[in-house]
Amino acid sequence: MANKMSLLVPKTTKPRYSSLCSDDELLDDETHCYQSVSVQRGSWCDDFGSISGSQNSIYLPYTGHVSASLPREELDSTSVPVIKMGWLDKNPPQGSLIYQRRWVKLDAEYLRYFDTEKDVYSKRIIPTVSITGVVNVGDQKFEVVTHNRTFLFRAESDLDRNEWVAVLKSCVGVSRARTSLDLTFNPCVNYEMKGYLEMRGLRSKLYTVVCADKVYLYKNTEDYRLGIGITSIDMNVGNVKEMDRRGFDLTTPYRIFSFVADTDQLKDQWVEAMRDSIKEALSNYEVAERIWAEPSNQMCADCSAAKPEWAAINLAVVFCKRCAGEHRGLGPSVSKVRSLKMDKKVWTEDLIQLFLAVGNERANQFWAANVPPSEELTLNSSSDERRRFITAKYREGKYRRYHTLFGNQRELNNALCINVQSSDVCETLALVFCGADVSCDTGDPELTSPIALAQHHSQTLQVEFLTQNRHTEIPRSEVKVPIDTVHYMAPPSITHNGFLFKTGSMARPITEKKGKEEFSRRWCVLNDGNFSYYESDKNATPNGGLKMKEIVCLAVNPPETHGYDHTFELYSDSERLYLFGTDNPDAMREWVKSIAKSFIPSGAEHLLLKDFERIGRLRYKDRLNREMSRLGWFCLVGSGLHIRLEEDNSDETIDLQKLQELSIQPENEVLVLVERGRTLYIEGERKLDFQGWAAAIQRNAGSSGDTLSQQQLMDSDIPVIVDRCIQFITQYGLTSEGIYRKSGVNSKIAALLEELRRDARCVWLKEGEHQVDDVSNVLKRFFRDIAEGLFGAEAHAWLSATGVSDESSRICQYRLLFSDLPRVNQATLRALVNHLYCVQRFADLNQMNLHNLAIVFGPTLFQTDGKDYSAGRVIEDLIQHYVTIFHVNEQQLKKQLDEITYIIKLRDNLTPKAGTGSGDFICTVYLEEKKETAEQHVKIPAAMTSAELTFEILDRRKLSVREKDYWCCFEVNEKEETERPLHYQERVLPIFHSLGTDSHLLVKKHFSMEAMLVYLASKVEVSKHGMMKFREERSLLGLGLSSGSFNDRYFILTSTSLRLYKEVRNLQKLQRPELQCSNRPEREWPVKCLKVYLGIKKKLRPPTCWGLTVVYESEKQEKQERQQWYLCCDTQTDMREWFATFMSIQNGGRVWPAEWLKSRSTSRSAPLDARFGNVSLIPLRGSENEMRNSVAAFTADPLALFRNV
Ligand SMILES: [Zn+2]
Repeated sequence: MANKMSLLVPKTTKPRYSSLCSDDELLDDETHCYQSVSVQRGSWCDDFGSISGSQNSIYLPYTGHVSASLPREELDSTSVPVIKMGWLDKNPPQGSLIYQRRWVKLDAEYLRYFDTEKDVYSKRIIPTVSITGVVNVGDQKFEVVTHNRTFLFRAESDLDRNEWVAVLKSCVGVSRARTSLDLTFNPCVNYEMKGYLEMRGLRSKLYTVVCADKVYLYKNTEDYRLGIGITSIDMNVGNVKEMDRRGFDLTTPYRIFSFVADTDQLKDQWVEAMRDSIKEALSNYEVAERIWAEPSNQMCADCSAAKPEWAAINLAVVFCKRCAGEHRGLGPSVSKVRSLKMDKKVWTEDLIQLFLAVGNERANQFWAANVPPSEELTLNSSSDERRRFITAKYREGKYRRYHTLFGNQRELNNALCINVQSSDVCETLALVFCGADVSCDTGDPELTSPIALAQHHSQTLQVEFLTQNRHTEIPRSEVKVPIDTVHYMAPPSITHNGFLFKTGSMARPITEKKGKEEFSRRWCVLNDGNFSYYESDKNATPNGGLKMKEIVCLAVNPPETHGYDHTFELYSDSERLYLFGTDNPDAMREWVKSIAKSFIPSGAEHLLLKDFERIGRLRYKDRLNREMSRLGWFCLVGSGLHIRLEEDNSDETIDLQKLQELSIQPENEVLVLVERGRTLYIEGERKLDFQGWAAAIQRNAGSSGDTLSQQQLMDSDIPVIVDRCIQFITQYGLTSEGIYRKSGVNSKIAALLEELRRDARCVWLKEGEHQVDDVSNVLKRFFRDIAEGLFGAEAHAWLSATGVSDESSRICQYRLLFSDLPRVNQATLRALVNHLYCVQRFADLNQMNLHNLAIVFGPTLFQTDGKDYSAGRVIEDLIQHYVTIFHVNEQQLKKQLDEITYIIKLRDNLTPKAGTGSGDFICTVYLEEKKETAEQHVKIPAAMTSAELTFEILDRRKLSVREKDYWCCFEVNEKEETERPLHYQERVLPIFHSLGTDSHLLVKKHFSMEAMLVYLASKVEVSKHGMMKFREERSLLGLGLSSGSFNDRYFILTSTSLRLYKEVRNLQKLQRPELQCSNRPEREWPVKCLKVYLGIKKKLRPPTCWGLTVVYESEKQEKQERQQWYLCCDTQTDMREWFATFMSIQNGGRVWPAEWLKSRSTSRSAPLDARFGNVSLIPLRGSENEMRNSVAAFTADPLALFRNV
């Protein structure tokens, strides 16, 4: 863990603020600011050069061949659809004549322009409502007129200009009509906070407005008044971080806005306002906005409050939060209450359409046809008034418009059956709520219910309405229900009181033991969502307290952590920690239960049933939600982390002991949990409770005790320690004489076991670093020490089973005992015996036959002194009858043994080869780039091909692969500055073993592949000849060629050989094939003995950058000969063609699999967890920005141009 903790993410040193308002924005204004602006401009110049680099740091440099399908639209899901966009020239700032090229974008709300089409933040944002005119001014130019300013644009053609003018005019017309009642031009009427803020790097302050889910930046108040801003920032991707005293950063995936407030207090207010804005942005308005498209739905159906966010999906009415509480009280058989914002899944297209077709107005024409003014609700009505009114309205139907057929059931049913065939849902509503039976008999043998009738007539809204009301209770005024009897209780408000001992609240985690003297006795009262503490139960004024909704976490300390036996901690969202204690366990339990109940929402209530040590809310990201974090309710119980995910109302449990990876990014405080098939990022929204969570999760992810099941476990339920050791021995120890019998170095064994026990997940055993005898003894010692032993409580039964003389009944006995073992013991025993079976199969190499192993492992596993052989006997039996006892698939076993044989052979061949880490069993492969955050540890079986490895890596990162993505595994040699794409069928293991310390394997896209394939497809015969510059590093043939410089040579590459000709004068002959044979080449190499790498070491000063490094290794075993030389081409194309030709010849024309994507499914060894089949492009570690970078980077390769072959 330590090394991961220390992983620091490289910081961007470039300033990121400079490009926001470039000179033109400051220049194109009134002359009076001209002077100051030119000064500013001077001071910006340094930064200016980095603008495109910094702003585009996430998006791609414009390379000309990257497609325009940038991820922005996808990220920016809340955006209003773009009506038109394109490049336009904008009139120059005053005093200049040069037009500025701008990317201009128009949607219904704004006209914006940007530096480039990739920018997310505009240089100028003009609300369409503030545009007073659009004027065609000739020469492809047009003007956009606003109250205080005119923007002149020039299109590329008159046609384009006319289009712009037309769409702008229509847009302006629409928005003016829409806001005719609202005379303001400014979108931020209901701002949360506004004022001047300094932005680091800018001289003048910006007028900043936090409004709903956006932050707007204006040059000054005047611009703000007119609504003409610089840019708007969507807060759904924002994150606010407090920096130094007055400074704070608003971080988005695209840039960081560093603000400085005027005072500390103001900073706090700004930070709070922006955080609220983020919260608002995160809640989903999509459904609400669609529902509100019907004007009457913009007011509560019951009390007229604005922007109601709740609805009864069966009654087809929309209402406010306060009324929703009362609707809920009616019970779902009367009112099915759902949130427009939170219950996203409920809102099918049909349901939304139903709400648009009915709407509050028409619904009220029925429900509220006869409301006496005295009973009408107002915004200020009390809950009692609301309850009374809403009960009368919907449960009793007191105010409804009675249908003419009311009371005549048969007629009502009949009318319903007829009406559902039409589109008049309002009539259906009236019929149903006046008593028509939704499931009445239609008399039609085919279409037996009104729903079937409606379906038959394709009346989808009727179907929707009827379906929602299948179980609705019809209003019945005759049966008076006492108003106070509530059918469906909303969670009662929790009340609890009693004495607790309390310390002062703290702003940092408690690290030391708090003695009793630090606590004071307080009378504590939990009531109505408030927790207050008083000097005594006689006092009326509390000493202090906190609102339940401010509580973000409740942690229960282990007994005796502090002076009082039982203590718990409360964390508030204002980063305060409150410690309470009591000696009474019952009181403790009551308090914890009551407090948790009062701040955990009802949706997550089931978490309260658990015996948690920590519960609270955290923001997290995962799967597809990589730019927007969500709220989840987390509950930690031992190694189980239970999560109520807000996003889909689903529950998950993560077994922390089975995590593949757990790390903290200290810099931005994200806890990364990698589980098989998914990665969860828990964010440190607040420092204090996050620290507590991180520590607790880390603690519980380690081994929690001394028994087998308390260890960190693999997916297969084997302790990670056991797996690590077995893997290592399999790789390096099977040929080691006396393995498991020889003793290692005691101190090393103890240290390694200790390290593994601390956090086995982070320990990778490596050849060279670790000795087989040490590792084998670690495994033995682990089993000897494990509490309860591998065979558990029934160990004696195993031992006595050896007394059964009949072999087959003895085996039966073992099988029976095995099936009684706990899950983890079963898995571990099976894995261990499998391993020992393999060890003894190679007894001719390691001298450890069945009996020898049994002598060693019997007493070890049974934790006996070894005087009695029955323990050894059990082990001997288990190994000998391994296949039968454990129901082993013999084919798999054979495969496994073959693999081991191969490894042994391979290692035998490689023994003379030195080099640390070169023979690592767990191979490190990088994705895209060699850096720690991109590293993957892959177990490479002998048969694994390059394509399989590539897919393995891509699968792990859940990268989706498109047909034209030529993902490929490269052998990269850093010292030689070369790389070689492995052929897709090439076996990886031999390559891996041949890699020196300067080399590594890297999976990335092969950008030249497409061009190579096109080139090869155009060739009839695969051969190539032409000039290249040649340099030989050392010559074993002693031909005396110059080794100091590159010389022009003529080459011919045929299906069998590469020939070099020194004399250029023979060129003419050479180009005529019939003459070729008469020309002896100076040098000739068989193609199959050549390995061609891309690139040449710069130190050799190649004349062009299009170089190839070629390694020749002779086939003759007795005289191993290795040459290395260099070829340099004049153009990139030339080099690509040479390389393609080599590849094609060496692989019989198969350069790329014909069915690349299909080959994937067959190559994949382990099926992916289908639930997580989606893309998650985020690397395992790295800062948030890095994560985001990589998201962008995977969408298209930013360095494609430079990386190209
Ligand atoms: Zn209301």
